[in-house]
Amino acid sequence: MQDFDYLIIGAGPSGLTIAHALLKGGVARDRLLVIEANKEAGGLCRSESVDGAPLDIGGGHFLDIRNKKTLEFLFQFMPEEEWDTYSRIAKIRIHNREIDHPLEGNLWQFSKSDQVDYLESIARTGSVAGEPMPESFETWVRWKLGDRIAEDYMLPYNRKIWSMDLEQLGTYWLYKLPDVSFRDTLRSCLEGRQFGALPAHGTFLYPKQFGYGEVWRRMGAQLGTQLLTTTPVTSIDVENRIVNGAYRADRIISTMPWTLWPSLADVPVEIVDFIGELVSIPIDVDYFPEAVPSAAHWIYEPRDDISYHRILPRHNFCPGSRGYWTETNALRSVAISHFRHHNEFAYPVNTKNKPAAVQAILSWARTKGIIGAGRWGTWEHMNSDVAVAEALDMARKLLGSA
Ligand SMILES: Cc1cc2nc3c(=O)[nH]c(=O)nc-3n(C[C@H](O)[C@H](O)[C@H](O)COP(=O)(O)OP(=O)(O)OC[C@H]3O[C@@H](n4cnc5c(N)ncnc54)[C@H](O)[C@@H]3O)c2cc1C
Repeated sequence: MQDFDYLIIGAGPSGLTIAHALLKGGVARDRLLVIEANKEAGGLCRSESVDGAPLDIGGGHFLDIRNKKTLEFLFQFMPEEEWDTYSRIAKIRIHNREIDHPLEGNLWQFSKSDQVDYLESIARTGSVAGEPMPESFETWVRWKLGDRIAEDYMLPYNRKIWSMDLEQLGTYWLYKLPDVSFRDTLRSCLEGRQFGALPAHGTFLYPKQFGYGEVWRRMGAQLGTQLLTTTPVTSIDVENRIVNGAYRADRIISTMPWTLWPSLADVPVEIVDFIGELVSIPIDVDYFPEAVPSAAHWIYEPRDDISYHRILPRHNFCPGSRGYWTETNALRSVAISHFRHHNEFAYPVNTKNKPAAVQAILSWARTKGIIGAGRWGTWEHMNSDVAVAEALDMARKLLGSA
């Protein structure tokens, strides 16, 4: 039996960041271990070489520039000069044309008569009339954006990406969508340019070479023997904090999905019930060698008769590459492409019961010296810059309480 202060499950951005921050904070190398199921570090942010250029196998990954603490941390492993900076070009395919995202800020790109229809629909919404925010997803979309944007884009797109009854979704997370007011929309139609809040990744970084996976691969390599790859967690003795019958730790930090826990550990039945409330969706990433005649970095596709929901023309952000890749909820996937990577755990879903279930699971885990971290340990739909920022905060708290 090997003994550690910290055992971290998962070498995605969260696990890697916590490990490095703890080591930098003074934890001795031989007191920390990271266990990863895959053969390489990086989790959903890994890249592979496909058709002579990098492909991000967890889907399109771009580093938002707003989080300075995250950038400072990541530049230690991959210096700033190894990244290119891009001003985001994200489009929505609608009525056989491409309109900039977000739709409500860019209606001015439609014909005048379409603009009038969309504006009239937004003018009639509950949010403009000052009605209270509804609690079901579809009603919220109609309340906020109007029936026209709801039916042309938001509802079909969300039905595709989640492939579930939208009534199961909560509304507590929708504050994350860019808030474009009716006034902003009206002004953008009158002046022929975008107004209102910009969504995430307005400006983003992408590596000049290697793909998004490179920074995480380097972080993994620098952990040396403190990272065990190709080592899935297969059993956890919760009471004694022993993993795979071989590694004991004072604290376990888990970034693997809670839904795997009941088959690996002795979890009390009431917590198993809460875990049963958690929903995630799988995403297939498919590569195609053809060029896409678009300047966009990515394009959202709401049409139901097309299986994928997002397409990424690789040649627009990956120098020297060709082709494009698509992201499809695996439940909707069709014929196998040139290359496919299946991500069983891609998006945690914001169902109505999620917040209460996560709170109960994390509270129980804490009593056992087990901490949930990252996308799957908190079941939060977070980007990697947020995963890094939260992991740095967690390490700081752990070091403070040691
Ligand atoms: C389609 C898509 C697009 C995205 N786009 C962006 C973007 O543009 N920009 C951005 O910043 N973020 C983006 N993200 C989010 C980003 O992927 C996550 O924020 C990030 O990966 C979270 O890191 P994590 O370490 O918490 O989780 P993960 O990356 O999922 O890492 C969890 C790790 O745990 C390991 N694990 C699981 N089970 C076990 C087990 N039994 N034993 C051992 N190890 C195990 C996994 O193999 C994995 O390595 C996107 C995500 C998706 C799905």
